Amino acid sequence: MNKIQPVNGQFAMPALAYEALGNVISKETLSFHHGKHLKAYIDNLNKLLPGSGMEGMTLAEIVKKAEGGMFNNAGQVLNHTMYFEQFSNTPRAISAKFEAVIARDFGSMEAFQKEFNQKGVTLFGSGWVWLSADKEGKLVITQNTNADNPVCHDLRPLMTFDVWEHAYYLDYQNRRADHLAALWQHIDWPVIEERY
Ligand code: MN
Repeated sequence: MNKIQPVNGQFAMPALAYEALGNVISKETLSFHHGKHLKAYIDNLNKLLPGSGMEGMTLAEIVKKAEGGMFNNAGQVLNHTMYFEQFSNTPRAISAKFEAVIARDFGSMEAFQKEFNQKGVTLFGSGWVWLSADKEGKLVITQNTNADNPVCHDLRPLMTFDVWEHAYYLDYQNRRADHLAALWQHIDWPVIEERY
């Protein structure tokens, strides 16, 4: 995550097979979310980079330093790259070791998922719910509005649910809670654990 860097001064789209994620995210939603929304953020960021003084920085470094449009677009590129890369149609299970870390900091997997979903449902407006680690490795759940990312708050981001309406409205309309509850089916846990 901290190593996402521009090649020849330009950031590239994260790979995504345009397959629906089961009944959870339709192909139509993915084609807009990845193919239109994320592409626009990357195109905008790439236009803003030349002459900004941030050309050689990693994405996380840009997000920590940038302001205004540069921050909004870089933040959304980082948020969406981490979001899309954590899902799979053939998700792999959580390890006993990482489940123990979750139990240590939240009591149980069920309690963690309940709090995560709840913070996603109650985030007012557009934003993201994140699982992150602090400097001591303790896990925390945060609500981050608009393009904000945990790296701006000295946290190491691990997993996220996008609660902007564009992430679910075609498939779930106003039923954000149902959408968030279903996303867990496609979490590819080794990706999260590697970020930890
Ligand atoms: Mn989004």
